[in-house]
Amino acid sequence: MTREAPLYKNQAILLSHNFFIKDNRAELLLYAHKYDFDILFFSEVRDFVSAVENDQGNGLFVIDLDALHNMQADMQDSRKTLMLSELLQRLPGEHSYVYLQSIRQGGRFLLQQRLVDSNCLAYAEKPIANDVLVDKLFNLFVQKKRGDLVRLMYLGAPVGLDEQALLQGRVELIYHTDAQTLHLRVKELQPDMVLITDAEYESTEAVVRVLKKNIEADPVREVMLLQHRIDAALARRALASGVDEIVMMSDPDLLAVQLINRANKIRVNKDLISKDRATGLLNKIGLQKKAQELIRQAAPDKLSLAFGIIDIDKFKTINDTWGHYVGDIVIKRLSLTLAPFIGEADLLSRFGGEEFVVVFWDCTLEQGWRKLDAMRLAFGAIAFEVGPGEVRHFSFSGGVAAYPEYKSENEMFLRADAMLYEAKQGGRNQIRAEPPAARQD
Ligand code: GH3
Ligand code: MG
Ligand code: MG
Repeated sequence: MTREAPLYKNQAILLSHNFFIKDNRAELLLYAHKYDFDILFFSEVRDFVSAVENDQGNGLFVIDLDALHNMQADMQDSRKTLMLSELLQRLPGEHSYVYLQSIRQGGRFLLQQRLVDSNCLAYAEKPIANDVLVDKLFNLFVQKKRGDLVRLMYLGAPVGLDEQALLQGRVELIYHTDAQTLHLRVKELQPDMVLITDAEYESTEAVVRVLKKNIEADPVREVMLLQHRIDAALARRALASGVDEIVMMSDPDLLAVQLINRANKIRVNKDLISKDRATGLLNKIGLQKKAQELIRQAAPDKLSLAFGIIDIDKFKTINDTWGHYVGDIVIKRLSLTLAPFIGEADLLSRFGGEEFVVVFWDCTLEQGWRKLDAMRLAFGAIAFEVGPGEVRHFSFSGGVAAYPEYKSENEMFLRADAMLYEAKQGGRNQIRAEPPAARQD
């Protein structure tokens, strides 16, 4: 395969000596690749340590403690086995580690305490199924990365919140002061959390029901009541009317920490729902939501949006001829090829198996066609080594539609899909986009 960019976004560096990991190596890798990370296996502490030291900051470091029994303390004296304390001492101190331990080890609290106090990011108990281990490691990667901003809308007098601390914790704060227009603002900006002060709630209690009963409201959005003093009756009414959580007004930094923790949970959930694990791109659900948001933003200024669907040509043949593993790599490489064409305000989604959707902000049909065609050429230029010394090039077809000719995300999708169909009919490896008028002539 070509090597322009690393194929997987993250890597797990694993120190292990025992059979569990060794025998499962191929399967672990297969699962890991579906989650967009690679695993580097090490059996010597020294090599592991240098890999940890050379890591560029996106690694996860995993140590299988069963390995201890088989590891030598140093190369000269090969009979002496390595003690846990010696191992821990050798690990670079500025990093944290995931420890895999046996149930027996986990049953010894003192040993466990020793571990969690030794730069421990997390620990897992063996036996653990390969897919479960990979899933857990993936969650750690998700938690590690600098996440998307979580949007918090605050209804009340703008005091008592530490805006700076919130932003540091990736929470974007938006003030709103009028209860009667809150639902409009929420509809426009789609915040993930809404925080309502007790004073505002008391004066307009219906505000929560108006937010919650809207059938289009995001069901995972959290509505919170901020109480300045304990008032059980008010809290009870608030909870009954749809408030998810009561938050006490403490000092601003404590409140900020609480909100950031909450936001972190929301972010993880959102990622799980709206992103494709193998590529980290938006999935179908995420794309639909974001595309609708873009349309809302484009409408007032009458901006154009270009919506493109990309589908790899004869992908079944790729799978059938060289196996699903190669098919997966082609998909992964395509996602990496498309990414540089996507601007800050644009969207890129893995919509289905080998289908991708792009939405270009402030972009006409014609410009959209050009961008897709440039992507097509870039993908076609990649030399895939499908077998030893056997190189192949692959292609995709695409269809484009534009807003405002097509009014909704769904209409654009149907139109772009019809264009894609024409590209396939026309011989594949091409992009189709026709203004609606041109078609009727
Ligand atoms: P066409 O040029 O008409 O698009 O032909 P095609 O063979 O690409 O046809 P189609 O789009 O119907 O085939 C898609 C195939 O992609 C079917 C499915 O088995 C395979 N596929 C879907 N998701 C994945 C995946 O994640 N990995 C692999 N390896 N294959 C997948
Ligand atoms: Mg397809
Ligand atoms: Mg296809």
